[in-house]
Amino acid sequence: MERQLFLLPPTDPDLVRNSPLPDRVARVIKLLKDNEPPEGYYLAFSGGKDSIVIKELARMSGVKFDAWFNNTTIDPPEAIRFIKEFHPDVKWNNNKRGSMMHQVATRPKMPPTRSWRWCCGEYKEGGGKGRVKIFGVRAEESTARAARWREVTLSSYDGDTAICPIVYWTSGQVWEFIRFYNLPYCSLYDEGFERIGCIGCPLISRRLQDREFERWPRFYEGWKRAIIRNWEKWHDVPNKKGDMRFQNKFKNGEALFAWWRGYRDPDYIRGACQSEQLWTNIPGVGDGEN
Ligand code: SF4
Repeated sequence: MERQLFLLPPTDPDLVRNSPLPDRVARVIKLLKDNEPPEGYYLAFSGGKDSIVIKELARMSGVKFDAWFNNTTIDPPEAIRFIKEFHPDVKWNNNKRGSMMHQVATRPKMPPTRSWRWCCGEYKEGGGKGRVKIFGVRAEESTARAARWREVTLSSYDGDTAICPIVYWTSGQVWEFIRFYNLPYCSLYDEGFERIGCIGCPLISRRLQDREFERWPRFYEGWKRAIIRNWEKWHDVPNKKGDMRFQNKFKNGEALFAWWRGYRDPDYIRGACQSEQLWTNIPGVGDGEN
């Protein structure tokens, strides 16, 4: 039977954004109550500020839900400690394939990049298939998110219904909620980190990646080791079609790692004719699991 969804007027994001905190909270409570599935919601919890807000809003609404943390295996240790200490009720979704760095090191895929982020699908976006989800996604985070997500929408991850209660909230409004309700939050925000998530994620700027790697050098070493191992394992192994793999374009594992970090130097590449293409096309071309 098709689920009936309830949408709240107005749908103009600015009208939500411009309303005071009590009105925004009341709106979310109504949204969650109106759409509550009999089996309860699947709430995606990362330990970041947005997820602690949606979890608290779900609790205030009195709806049934279970919160899940997708363990990427490269989350900051401080975030892991925060979740364990303040949100022990959150369930953990551990990837059966093991750690992400093991996947990077051993599978023939190229390392994840800004435009080919296979790790998100495998480590961050799974869980709760067929359930109605609650996500803490916010439109302000990127134009892609603003275009894709609404308060009630079909999840682009799996086609299930997703409720995004704070999609139109600003970052300032998220902090307003956290302070008003005196919610504990991860200590990394007080160190000036604005995002809490996978350390060294290829989607972030190199400046931010540098900062994260400086803060957690063990994770820098982990990425570097995994990418070099990836090159060592696959650079001279042809794919099923008999073609040489992406890794073969690089002179060595260090060159692949430097390219992954965003350093462009033709000296990394075997054969000058390929270098131009690598600089312009490569992020995302990946030859996949071939
Ligand atoms: S490293 Fe980045 S792209 Fe990969 S799972 Fe984490 S957030 Fe997604």
